Amino acid sequence: MGLKFEHVTLGQRVLFGTGLAGANLAAEVARLGADRVMVIASPSEAKRLASVTDAIKVALHHHDVAPHVPLEKAEKARAAAAENNIDLLVCAGGGSTTGLAKAVALTLGLPIIAIPTTYAGSEATNVWGLTEACRKTTGVDDAVLPVTVIYDAALTLGLPVELSAASGLNAMAHCIDSMWAPRADPINAALAAEGIRALNTALPAIKADPLEPSGREHALYGAYLAAVVFASAGSGMHHKICHVLGGAYNLPHAQTHAIILPHVLAFNTPYAPEAQARIAAAFGTTRALDGLNALRDTLDAPTALKDYGLAEKNIPEAAQLILPAIPASNPGEVTTEALEKLLHRAYTGSAAL
Ligand code: NAD
Repeated sequence: MGLKFEHVTLGQRVLFGTGLAGANLAAEVARLGADRVMVIASPSEAKRLASVTDAIKVALHHHDVAPHVPLEKAEKARAAAAENNIDLLVCAGGGSTTGLAKAVALTLGLPIIAIPTTYAGSEATNVWGLTEACRKTTGVDDAVLPVTVIYDAALTLGLPVELSAASGLNAMAHCIDSMWAPRADPINAALAAEGIRALNTALPAIKADPLEPSGREHALYGAYLAAVVFASAGSGMHHKICHVLGGAYNLPHAQTHAIILPHVLAFNTPYAPEAQARIAAAFGTTRALDGLNALRDTLDAPTALKDYGLAEKNIPEAAQLILPAIPASNPGEVTTEALEKLLHRAYTGSAAL
């Protein structure tokens, strides 16, 4: 059969350069013709990024940021933006900060310049999230896609090694899962393979020397590619499992991703020879799973869900919740029994098979 697919590329400017965030921000604010800029950053992020935001005239600094964008924080930021006649949002920090800017853009239609300092990747997606009474709602709207992303590895040198590894493995999960996600296509596969290669070099380099910019640069580059493919390809089996485990049993996001990923890779690759070959080549190994496991070992990644709050008795229920969410695009046939087996291995920390 010939090559046939539909691929959507989201439009955004990416400015990449170590030590250049201040100059790039000033140039972008001028290009967009904005003169009422609101900078969104938590107090510690604002301190870390002061030299960057000092490069522009700021109408309002907003520091009230919280994980997962609680609705009341979003309403407060929206009101502050409206009262101050803001015409441009600049968010500078992790995914929580980007998320708050997106919540403001969603209702006020303001453009965003994002300066990300972790590897979460929210800056390259058109997905927003809001939390109300402990329930997280997400949606897709191009209005929340930052018009410009400014990457500067110098701003990430202080991201603790453990957080860097967790955030980086989460980006790796975006790349690997995109190989069989609902909108998997050859463009996404090519970008994902490059993301895997970049992250596989960068994350061990960061562990070896967190203050060396080159590892940080490649991690940001890989995280950007990972987010682009995640936005384009959608959630595959891995993300569906992690979503249920996080939502129903309150398991921590990054650790759950790190534990589940090798099990999904082991489950799917026998049925997806092309993906297996691409992922393996990106890791520089013959078997994709060997490449991922070697990286996980180097990073001392967590291995067992039992260490993070899952009870063994929850496994049958979790499998029932996950099964209907598995996309039809998944290469391996997923049954309740197969899911229970996979979750059990992840629970005990057994090697992925
Ligand atoms: P986060 O933004 O909560 O940041 C984690 C911690 O790291 C914070 O305390 C922050 O202050 C600190 N930090 C950030 N940059 C730092 C740096 N350079 N040095 C030292 N400390 C630093 O967490 P996150 O992992 O960046 O983002 C997670 C959030 O993003 C979640 O809410 C997730 O749902 C969301 N997310 C959304 C999308 C999307 O497409 N909408 C994609 C990925 C993640």
